[in-house]
Amino acid sequence: MTIGILGGGQLGYMLALAGYPLGLHFRFLDPSPEAPVGRIATRITAKFTDRIALKKFAQGLALVTYEFENVPVEAARFLAERVPVLPSPAALEVAQDRLKEKQLFRKLGIATTEFAPVADRDALEAAARQIGLPAVLKTCRLGYDGKGQWILRSAEDVARAKTELPVERAAATKKRGSAQGSLDGAAFILERFVPFARELSILAVRGRTGETGVYPLVENHHRGGILRLSLAPAPRLDAVIQRAAEDAAKRVLDSLQYVGVLAIEFFEYEGRLLANEMAPRVHNSGHWTIEGAVTSQFENHLRAVTGLPLGSTSAIGHSAMLNLIGDAPDSAEVLTVRDAHLHLYGKTRRSGRKLGHVTLRAGSPEQLASRLGELPTFFHRPEFCLDAALTYRASLRA
Ligand code: AMP
Repeated sequence: MTIGILGGGQLGYMLALAGYPLGLHFRFLDPSPEAPVGRIATRITAKFTDRIALKKFAQGLALVTYEFENVPVEAARFLAERVPVLPSPAALEVAQDRLKEKQLFRKLGIATTEFAPVADRDALEAAARQIGLPAVLKTCRLGYDGKGQWILRSAEDVARAKTELPVERAAATKKRGSAQGSLDGAAFILERFVPFARELSILAVRGRTGETGVYPLVENHHRGGILRLSLAPAPRLDAVIQRAAEDAAKRVLDSLQYVGVLAIEFFEYEGRLLANEMAPRVHNSGHWTIEGAVTSQFENHLRAVTGLPLGSTSAIGHSAMLNLIGDAPDSAEVLTVRDAHLHLYGKTRRSGRKLGHVTLRAGSPEQLASRLGELPTFFHRPEFCLDAALTYRASLRA
């Protein structure tokens, strides 16, 4: 059985690695000739909008899925006329737009940050009055890793943002939205700034028959908008919070008749969860599941889309996942640490690029802290956020 994957980055790479033992074959479509999956699978290099390439890509595939959520929905729909596309293009469409995502959370009774659509420049001041400051202005579409976001703390920031908003883009998107008879085409969203205690995410999976599975919540630490460290299961986790996240994930999965892995990111604030955003795919905060869970997010995504029974989402011990951004350590130094697992995606080094990750696994939080402490000096820099893990765990021992 050959599965087509839209996008050929590291998520696709790890999907293929998880799929080969299941006897699956893969074909990727990605616009970049540098896409790392080229090392391990057939790759078609073409734009997602190239219909001739899409037709060629679809030929003989059992189904198509994605590893990248900014694939044009029209491309997913075009493919869906030829071959099953999972998750559905409709789910992709919601997850591509922050406003639609938040409207869905609200409709499903899932607590989220306060927000207001900002259709154009002129709407910004009214939105700021409604939401209050500080607030975060975000593009509804195509933002990732903190790009396309501005924190507005004062009336001056609002005035400055107003002059800097790209008016043409806003107008163009609004036109498309109004054709659908709604405000959904807003170019921006203004959100209340949440002084959260921490960021958590949940990975959930739903199979073709409606069977679901949910992994334990993960604690995430970012620097410069990029994920640097995940701790799984999240330390100091209240069972009520885990249940609330599971409940939210199941509601989203069922409402979208979703098939595959879905990630939802939350803020923990005043003892409760606020949903921030979701991703209709396997997720960076789920990489720990390769060694740290009975079934990885990658395998479970493939089991779901191919109609196989889902695997257990239980954690095996305690894991820490560290992203390697722009630079990688000496492999031998990492691998001397017991139960350290190195993943390199085969990309050339470039600043800000996700080159790989390391997962450390241990039997207890204390053992994990001690293994994190044994990592080579490469990791003992503020951007790896190790203090968060080590300080907390040191206080546990005291
Ligand atoms: P996002 O692209 O929505 O995941 O945002 C990137 C990062 O910006 C998040 O991981 C948070 O650290 C921060 N952030 C986003 N939205 C808010 C908000 N409403 N309040 C506080 N911080 C935020």
